[in-house]
Amino acid sequence: MKVTFPHMGHMWICLSAMLEYLGVEVVVPPPSSKRTLTLGARHAPEFACLPLKLNLGNFMEASELGADTILMAGGCGPCRFGYYAQVEHAILEDLGYKYRLVVMEPPQKHVGELLSKIKYITGHSSWWEVVRGIRFGYQKARMVDELERQANYLRPREIHRGSTDKAFKRALQEIIAAKHPRDLPQAGERVRKIMAQVVIKPRPVLRVGIVGEIFTLLEPFANYDLERRLGYLGVETDRSIYLSEWINDHLFLGLVRGLRSRKEACQAAPPYLNHFVGGHGQETVGSTVMYAKQGYDGVIQLLPFTCMPEIVAHSVLPRLSTELGIPTLTITVDEQSGEAGLVTRLEAFIDLLARKKGVV
Ligand code: SF4
Repeated sequence: MKVTFPHMGHMWICLSAMLEYLGVEVVVPPPSSKRTLTLGARHAPEFACLPLKLNLGNFMEASELGADTILMAGGCGPCRFGYYAQVEHAILEDLGYKYRLVVMEPPQKHVGELLSKIKYITGHSSWWEVVRGIRFGYQKARMVDELERQANYLRPREIHRGSTDKAFKRALQEIIAAKHPRDLPQAGERVRKIMAQVVIKPRPVLRVGIVGEIFTLLEPFANYDLERRLGYLGVETDRSIYLSEWINDHLFLGLVRGLRSRKEACQAAPPYLNHFVGGHGQETVGSTVMYAKQGYDGVIQLLPFTCMPEIVAHSVLPRLSTELGIPTLTITVDEQSGEAGLVTRLEAFIDLLARKKGVV
């Protein structure tokens, strides 16, 4: 069995660590690119949202590298994610691909089914080993998230342009190279040393929160490398969702203490949005409220074209923005999006924030 999965930011690092630790052969799809999107968009329904198209492209490219089993998360609720895996699998079958599909449904609803799927993928491993493998993958997710946060802090303050990105790449390699839980403390030490070499200068920077749909938040190809771009425009960013937080909320049912949770964000959403609307819609609204209260200078909402939960969230952002005094910008992405238009809108938004704050 050669297992592949969708490319979503750095999720592959944590997933392959976990699976390889358990002796499963993994085929990481190539990083999402124009080719990935062209392949996916050619065969997906036109109205489908961007993540489905990119996932489809990922699986076609992974098949070229020998993958034969797709591992995907399932879902339920009012958005389309719940039947993504089945739609993608049906399209691939129609195209002649011979993939096995394993969908991990949320543990709250189907715990027995989830356990049997884990056993199917991990084969001979004992439950104790499975727990250790999951823990190993999760520890890597925490390290990568911490590294991303650090890079987002350093980038707008760096003296030598590009030094944060260079350090980030080297540090990421250290995390990837750790093949066993016992290697992680030394890897963490090396990561700290590498990032400490980035020379920064204290300067006034803008702070912007990025909220929205998880795939577009986490996948730099889908969001035109938004965090990096903003860093170079002198903006420190924070995302409303990091992978380890998502894992804790959705797979560990919030058992890891001390992390932000979607619960807090959802509790902050009323009176603007009082109930669950699917995906991350309510979190988007609640996180925007929280960023406003924490004194952030602005919020950017990211969503794939036709994303239902984020369209609902978008409809209440103007009122929230006026009442809480936080400027918001909504960016919608799909296969028709153009980089030049995005850059113009971003620069105009950041210019507005800088003038408002008086840091021009
Ligand atoms: S949250 Fe949005 S982008 Fe994600 S599956 Fe649902 S509709 Fe599509």
